[in-house]
Amino acid sequence: MEESEVRRLFGKLKIRTLLDLALIIPSSYEDTRLSSGIEGGKIQTFEAVVKNVENRGSQMRVGFDLPGVGCSITGFFFRVTPYHRRIFRPGSRHVIHGGVRFYKGWAQIVQPRSLRNYGELVPRYGTSVKESEIRLLMKNCITEKALFSEGLESLEVQTLLRLHFPWRFGGIPDMDSEEVKDVLKFVEAYNHLRKLRLKRSDYPAVKSLENPPDSFIGGLPFELTGDQHSAIEEIRRDLSRVDRAARRMIIGDVGSGKTMVILAAAVIAGENRAFLMAPTSILARQLYEEAKRHLPADLTVALVTRKSCEGDYRSADFVIGTHALLYLKDLPPAALVMVDEQHRFGTGQRALLEAMVSAGERRPHYLQFSATPIPRTQAMMQSELVDVSLIAKTPFERNVRSLVIGRDDFPDLLKHIEKEMEKGHQILIVYPLVEESGQIPYQSIEEARRFWEKRYEGVYVTHGRDRNKEEILLEFRQKGRILLATTVIEVGISLPYLTTIVVVGAERLGLATLHQLRGRVGRNGLESRCYLYTHAGKSERLERFCRTASGFEIARLDLEYRNSGDILDGTVQSGQKFRWFDPAGDETVLIRARERAHNVSPGRK
Ligand code: ADP
Ligand code: MG
Repeated sequence: MEESEVRRLFGKLKIRTLLDLALIIPSSYEDTRLSSGIEGGKIQTFEAVVKNVENRGSQMRVGFDLPGVGCSITGFFFRVTPYHRRIFRPGSRHVIHGGVRFYKGWAQIVQPRSLRNYGELVPRYGTSVKESEIRLLMKNCITEKALFSEGLESLEVQTLLRLHFPWRFGGIPDMDSEEVKDVLKFVEAYNHLRKLRLKRSDYPAVKSLENPPDSFIGGLPFELTGDQHSAIEEIRRDLSRVDRAARRMIIGDVGSGKTMVILAAAVIAGENRAFLMAPTSILARQLYEEAKRHLPADLTVALVTRKSCEGDYRSADFVIGTHALLYLKDLPPAALVMVDEQHRFGTGQRALLEAMVSAGERRPHYLQFSATPIPRTQAMMQSELVDVSLIAKTPFERNVRSLVIGRDDFPDLLKHIEKEMEKGHQILIVYPLVEESGQIPYQSIEEARRFWEKRYEGVYVTHGRDRNKEEILLEFRQKGRILLATTVIEVGISLPYLTTIVVVGAERLGLATLHQLRGRVGRNGLESRCYLYTHAGKSERLERFCRTASGFEIARLDLEYRNSGDILDGTVQSGQKFRWFDPAGDETVLIRARERAHNVSPGRK
């Protein structure tokens, strides 16, 4: 088969690798092995000699002798073409293939085909490519040698060969057996990992960054957690290299202390300049203030937002800002670029960020910080593209109790809210919509605010379309009691006295979003509650959420429930679809696949 033909068929099948092809498993098989006896109700294949032919109008009846069986059978043709009349001549020999039945004791075969190739279990692939073409493609590409050289081992190679060429390799394996399923899962995961690795390309760094962060760490008012230490260690190793610019994603739950890791990286960069970008100006300012509080005095810091600048960004060692940074004309280049809460940036802004770190021969080190925990399996896959550090433990236990509540619990909820307000604590109520809509069985903010405002002082309202949302949040932080909001509140402003969150219509949200929202309360260790308000009655998904505090475990649950239909917000990006491998449950398969992928092509590390 010509190389160009293989490429054409790969294109038509929308596949790229040999293992992509090997994983197109036949949906059924046609058995053309010769039968030694006649069985009614089966599709059979016989050697046959035409005894006589009888034409009846548009139909044709052919008597066959079956020398291999030692009897005869009548062939019925209902759709007769000149081809049939030409080939089924008395005395001619055939291998016929068709459905066999008995009629009043007579054996009949309906509309049999005369086969040229037989004696095989012929796979049916059911793709967009002709069966004969894909069979030829398989025969050309899927060889023992080719599969071994992809890094597969004996059992995997044998299983795939039996699936594609069962007549040569000992019959169709049992698709329902654990062994076969396991092989397919493995090959699928392995193939996916190898494809991801191919996508990664490394470039030399602008500079090796090696200022020691130790005295900064020692001077902090608290001990760093083990996870913070190891993230800093990994970053330190990355940044010390010049042959390869760092591409690392640091994933840690809300409150896991990522800011200290960011600041440590800024110390390591020192006078070689670092940028830090945050999705909102509140967050940028918060980071700026923490930087000024904790960083050594000789490291100069500047802040840039759309509305204000502090310090001189042209000369500062560490420039913190919103995406307004990306539009500055006179910003000198940096050796390290960091992005906090990277998942909150819009796609347009992400493209700009990418452009910032993807130009030139030498590239800045690039660290992204994300508070969206992803399941461990996804992190493993992601780590083929970028390096990943996980910060799983938070510095202190948070004391947040989660409860699923319904209409009947509302009076109790009000009592709880009043008690908290008496203690000077704040309440956040998250509504699904800003304005009334007939589509959702819950109140919107606009409908609900009358109720809350009539009853209580200090009610603040904000939502995603709100132009002044940052000012409102800052004012609420100063003197508010109840904040009514939509899920925009996800954006990480810290409200230390927030002890109660009520999520209205919780069943409509993904667990990852709920977890982000829950992360707003109890940030200083105050006893807190997260109420999931729903009209939908009992929900196993929400109950399990209430029992779990770990963002990584919740990410895994989210994956498990992804197809459950009650997730509307699309927070969890629909990842790669797998046919056999299950990212929610097959962690051990993935670990094996990863080991193999790394041993087979030890490209990096
Ligand atoms: P996030 O990962 O959500 O960005 P932050 O960096 O804002 O978390 O940290 C949350 C809070 O925990 C901050 O008040 C921070 O000062 C504090 N903190 C960070 N690391 C530690 C630590 N090792 N011990 C105690 N408190 C810490
Ligand atoms: Mg943060």
